[in-house]
Amino acid sequence: MTTKEICATSFDGLLEKRGVNRRDFLKLCAGVATALGLSQTAVPRIAEALEEKVIGATSGALAPALWLELASCTGCTESLAQVDTPDIATIVLELISLNYAETLSAGAGHSLEAAKEETIQAGGYLLFIEGALMEGWNGDALRIADERGIDIVEHAASNAVAIICAGSCAVDGGWQAAYPNPGGAIGIQAYLQKAKDAGRIEYEIPPIVNVPLCPANPEHLVAVLVDYLLLGTLPALNQFNMPSLIFDQTIHDNCPRRGHFENGEFVYRFGSEEEAKGYCLYAVGCKGPETKSNCPIVRWNRGSAWCVESGAPCAGCATANPTRQGFNWVDLNTPFLHHLKNIGIGGLRFEPAFIAFAVAGVVVVALAIHGFGMKKTGRTKGGADFELERSWDREHPDQALGSAEAARAAAAVMGVAVPEDIEVEAEAEEAEALAEAVEVAEAIEVAEAPTSIVEDETTEEGGGN
Ligand code: SF4
Ligand code: SF4
Repeated sequence: MTTKEICATSFDGLLEKRGVNRRDFLKLCAGVATALGLSQTAVPRIAEALEEKVIGATSGALAPALWLELASCTGCTESLAQVDTPDIATIVLELISLNYAETLSAGAGHSLEAAKEETIQAGGYLLFIEGALMEGWNGDALRIADERGIDIVEHAASNAVAIICAGSCAVDGGWQAAYPNPGGAIGIQAYLQKAKDAGRIEYEIPPIVNVPLCPANPEHLVAVLVDYLLLGTLPALNQFNMPSLIFDQTIHDNCPRRGHFENGEFVYRFGSEEEAKGYCLYAVGCKGPETKSNCPIVRWNRGSAWCVESGAPCAGCATANPTRQGFNWVDLNTPFLHHLKNIGIGGLRFEPAFIAFAVAGVVVVALAIHGFGMKKTGRTKGGADFELERSWDREHPDQALGSAEAARAAAAVMGVAVPEDIEVEAEAEEAEALAEAVEVAEAIEVAEAPTSIVEDETTEEGGGN
């Protein structure tokens, strides 16, 4: 038997011991390729790299790793560890020597802290960090093993080959940094840079890979890890230190409901006929157009489903800015069931109706006029009716879907003048605004628009959002 055959036998035996057959293993490697944005032709290379590392692991070639648990709900650990049968996450955990993880380690107390310290002294380890750092009360807002969290991170980062921030809390403070942020939650990258600028740390900050989402998708973490093991380098990163192949495309780009968005077919109320038809969830708060992650491709729960497919609007948990406080996904996206005001494309902001025009020609005007009807019947006032309206929206009614702005944008495209003083929110002026909208519609020969406004008044009365 050749060495290769021996290795192959050993590897298959290793898989078998963990209840995984060869076919499943290759399927799981295909999942990693998808998460990494690689073509399926990369699957054999991924499989080979994993095999070598697993075989290598038997001779002590495991990559050392520490997993710090800071201020968090441990959801990212759960996400990675809660697998019903051994899958790629389990197998890859066999590739690293996880020397310290408060939630997963069997050991505890002084022996576990000693293992962490030995690993730091030896260097060359991957440092996974879950949760936000807390600067509040001079750092005492977070203490672990009688040490401040900020001291733990400063020390643990000192000898790491790379820091992998798992989940939005570690990336930019996440939900814990949401206003008013009494504990001073902050992401790892921003904190280390502050500490460096203040002269509290003298070493070069190791490369940081930010992997947001709440919780982190295990496939994303595994993909980063496999990329590191496969190529010996970290994946290509964007300006936020997030893997480009995962976080440089919007949810909206890959959403199966996208066709409904472009047709102006929206769900306005849960339990409605539109929802049953699988229409676009934009009007009930989907943040997919502004959220960058490949969730529709990688999906969740071993690829079985993902948020929008399950009927829930994307809450935008991938949105993170590791360098700016206050740009966390919760502050930006709540109330979660309230629709986005407009959508950014190439640095410009557009109403969805405007985008629909670009895609479908004249549909934009119909949407804008239809928006007046929605506005009049209250369907766009606060997203779903069981969530409180955000104060910003109350103060800026003109920027809501169906606003005068949408009509102006549409009219501008069509070369039709619209009076500057259209106001839709004030009751006294609403009828006039609607009349003006109808005039715009007539001017550009969208004959059904007035009818649709009347229909909205009658069919949606008392039932809209
Ligand atoms: S708005 Fe949301 S549900 Fe609609 S197409 Fe975009 S991502 Fe999909
Ligand atoms: S679809 Fe949206 S809410 Fe769901 S995990 Fe992805 S980014 Fe988060």
